[in-house]
Amino acid sequence: MTTTIAVIRGDGIGPEIMDATLQVLDALGAGLRYEFVEAGLSAYEKTGELLPQATLDAIAQHRVALKSPLTTPVGEGFSSINVALRRRFDLYANVRPAVSFPNTRSRFAQNVDLITVRENTEGAYAGEGQQVSEDGATATLIQKITRRGSERIVRYAFDLAVRTGRRKVTVVHKANILKSTSGLFLKVAREVAAQYPAIECNELIVDNCCMQLVMRPEQFDVIVTTNLFGDIISDLCAGLVGGLGLAPGANIGADAAIFEAVHGSAPDIAGKGIANPCALLLGAAQMLDHLQQAALAGRLRDAIRATLEAADSLTPDLGGSGTTQGFARAIAARLG
Ligand code: ATP
Repeated sequence: MTTTIAVIRGDGIGPEIMDATLQVLDALGAGLRYEFVEAGLSAYEKTGELLPQATLDAIAQHRVALKSPLTTPVGEGFSSINVALRRRFDLYANVRPAVSFPNTRSRFAQNVDLITVRENTEGAYAGEGQQVSEDGATATLIQKITRRGSERIVRYAFDLAVRTGRRKVTVVHKANILKSTSGLFLKVAREVAAQYPAIECNELIVDNCCMQLVMRPEQFDVIVTTNLFGDIISDLCAGLVGGLGLAPGANIGADAAIFEAVHGSAPDIAGKGIANPCALLLGAAQMLDHLQQAALAGRLRDAIRATLEAADSLTPDLGGSGTTQGFARAIAARLG
C-alpha cells in the first residue's frame, strides 16, 4: 500500500536537506508518495501567505507531514508558523529522541538513548493572560494546566514506552513550588502510571533532572513533562548528544503528525550544499515508526549510524568536508 505524505521543503537549507532525505527514503523503498506544499518564506514569496490553506488541507488529508525548517518573516502576523501548525492541528505531544552517535561532537558519546515527551499546548507557552501594566513595571501571565492535557501527554509517554520496548518513564515537575499547576500534572501522572505496572515510573523535580541529565544521562529512558520544562530539557538533551544537527522532533496529535529537524533554516550556510541532513533523516525515521514501519525505521537509523561511524562523508559541522548530497548517498549505500 502506498502512503501519501505532505512534504514542506521549507526555507534556507530546508530544500537541500529535504531533497537528500527523500532520496534516502526512496532508496529505502519506503513506498511513500509525496504531495509538495509550501509554508514559510517561500510560500509568502509565491502566494502572499505564510501558511496557505492548501498546505493545511494537505496535512489534514494525509495526516502525516515531513517538514523542513521554516523562516517566519518578522512582522507578518505570525510569531511562529510552527506554533500556528501546533495550534491548528492540536499537536499535543512534542517527541524528541536524543541518541548518542559516533563521531559527533558530544561529551557523552556512548551512552545516551532517551526520548523527551513534552506537552505542547498548555502552560506558560500558551500565552494566556499576558499583560504588562501601563507603567511597564509589572508583567503577568496565566499558566493553565488541565487534567485532560496532563492525562493525554502522560498516557502518550507510557504508550510510547510500551510500543518501543522502553522500560522507564520519568515524570519531571516542580510540584513542591508550583503546587497548583505542576501539582495537578504530577497527581494525574501518578494515576496514569498506576495503569502501566510493567513500566517503571519515577519522579524528578526539574532542577534535579537537569543536573542528573548532565551527570548521568544513561539513567534516563522516557521523560515526560510540561511545556516550558520540556522545551528546555529537550534542547539540553540535544546538546548532550552533539547539538541540533542530529536532533529530530515530532509534533503529534490525534488527527495529524508533523515530523521535522529541530534546527532552524541556517541562512548562513543555505545554498552551499553543506548542511547536515541527519536531523531531518532521523525525523523521517520517527515518521516511519509512526506509520508502523518500524523495520524500515531501524534500517534507516542503522545506515545513519554506520555512515557516522565510517566518517568518510561527514559535513563540515561534524568536522568533515563532505556535502549534503554526498552524505545522503553514503547513507543510501549503507541501507541494509
Ligand atoms: P533560524 O532563524 O531559522 O532559527 P538560525 O541560524 O538562527 O536560523 P539554526 O538554523 O538552528 O538557527 O542554526 C544555528 C547554527 O547551527 C547556524 O550556524 C547553522 O549554520 C548551524 N546549523 C543548523 N542546522 C544545521 C545543519 N543541518 N547542518 C549544519 N549546520 C547547521
